[in-house]
Amino acid sequence: MSSPEIPTATEIPESVPGAGQPSPGTAPNQIGAIDFTTGDYRMLADSLRRIIDEDVNPYVDEWEEARTYPAHQVFKKLGDAGFLGLTKPEAYGGLGLDYTYGVMMAEQLGHVRCGAVPMSIGVQTDMCTPALARFGSDELRAEWLAPSIAGDLVGCIGVSEEGAGSDVASVKTTARRDGDDYVIRGNKMWITNGMQADWMCCLANTSEQGGPHRNKSLLVVPMDAKGIDRSRKLHKLGMWASDTAQIFFDDVRVPRRHLIGEENEGFRYQMMQFQEERLWSAASGIIAMERIIRDTIEYTRQRRVFGRPILDNQVVHFRLAELQTEVEALRALVYRATERYVAGEDVTRLASMAKLKGGRLGREIADSCLQYWGGQGYMWESSVSRSLRDMRLWSIGAGADEVMLQIIAKLEGTAPQE
Ligand SMILES: Cc1cc2nc3c(=O)[nH]c(=O)nc-3n(C[C@H](O)[C@H](O)[C@H](O)COP(=O)(O)OP(=O)(O)OC[C@H]3O[C@@H](n4cnc5c(N)ncnc54)[C@H](O)[C@@H]3O)c2cc1C
Repeated sequence: MSSPEIPTATEIPESVPGAGQPSPGTAPNQIGAIDFTTGDYRMLADSLRRIIDEDVNPYVDEWEEARTYPAHQVFKKLGDAGFLGLTKPEAYGGLGLDYTYGVMMAEQLGHVRCGAVPMSIGVQTDMCTPALARFGSDELRAEWLAPSIAGDLVGCIGVSEEGAGSDVASVKTTARRDGDDYVIRGNKMWITNGMQADWMCCLANTSEQGGPHRNKSLLVVPMDAKGIDRSRKLHKLGMWASDTAQIFFDDVRVPRRHLIGEENEGFRYQMMQFQEERLWSAASGIIAMERIIRDTIEYTRQRRVFGRPILDNQVVHFRLAELQTEVEALRALVYRATERYVAGEDVTRLASMAKLKGGRLGREIADSCLQYWGGQGYMWESSVSRSLRDMRLWSIGAGADEVMLQIIAKLEGTAPQE
């Protein structure tokens, strides 16, 4: 799969900054230190690009039509090349690199010609595994994290429910202790990878005391456990190639050793896990947005209206220049948040800003560009209409825009005290 000149993630030399260190590892100590176009970042990016070009993009249209894709097959290729554990501990097969490498990967996934497959991969690398990697017992990590890094298992993250999306603290699913087991009852909604996943990182109430922030736990739930029903596959506006499911738990037993970290600390762990999820989502849009702009430049350069290329109208090339400027601003924000995160800071504020900006910019770019494609842009099969459908998610999923604004306003001290 990898060329002799381009090392896979598992072959990077020891001299890579941060190699062999737990995440967060070596901290770039100055703003603007990240440059993914050079050195080992570049080599890894090229290696990932080859997998995307050979093993993903040729099949994307087929997978979109099928409303699913072979996650196990794709994850195995990524796992073999080291990409499912760039920032994960070496003891479990990861590379122990700092989080800049995770952001580099998220950005490069923008070369995939749909949003669904990157999202599914992001769930595995940055949404369902960070808490397990950080707080899971050695036994749990050996059993579930190591094979997930290797690409042998597909994971999913179970936070949202029919009645609880933005308000995570209000989830109703319960996991009650019974002997050496937890017994789980409830449901999870809109679960990416839900139909294919081998395990779920599940947020459930484990206590009636302590209040909504101190009564929840994260548990590893094997998806073949008795009492799990995942027959409800959901039909979506976009992100077609990823399978999204509602999952029901009817007295599902999981051993107590499947608890991640400490009991009743799950809400806090999930809030930490959201930092990576939100940085990932903002980073994953950057190259994808540039791709939409580039495709639009190509289309408007060759299509002539009133005797000249559409692109030659100042309103068009000015708008595209403006949108590219906005993408660079997003990139700067994502890199700054990432550097502070790697330096060990709480980046809730910056990560929320990046997530907000990424979600809004993605749909603005897709909508503005579609306009210049005219009727062709409105066709279902055009790349720009797929982008419009896919990008729309990011102002809702992983925390809606308004939730990001709520967090930012709170941290700015401008939200009214409750
Ligand atoms: C394709 C897809 C994949 C997903 N994958 C997963 C997954 O893998 N795992 C998982 O756990 N969840 C997943 N989700 C769920 C997602 O995280 C939630 O949809 C999201 O958090 C919003 O929750 P909700 O849909 O319940 O919206 P609600 O909480 O009902 O909010 C609806 C709208 O109300 C507005 N709103 C919310 N709060 C405020 C406020 N304070 N002030 C003003 N307006 C507000 C926002 O505009 C929001 O969009 C996925 C969703 C989709 C659509």
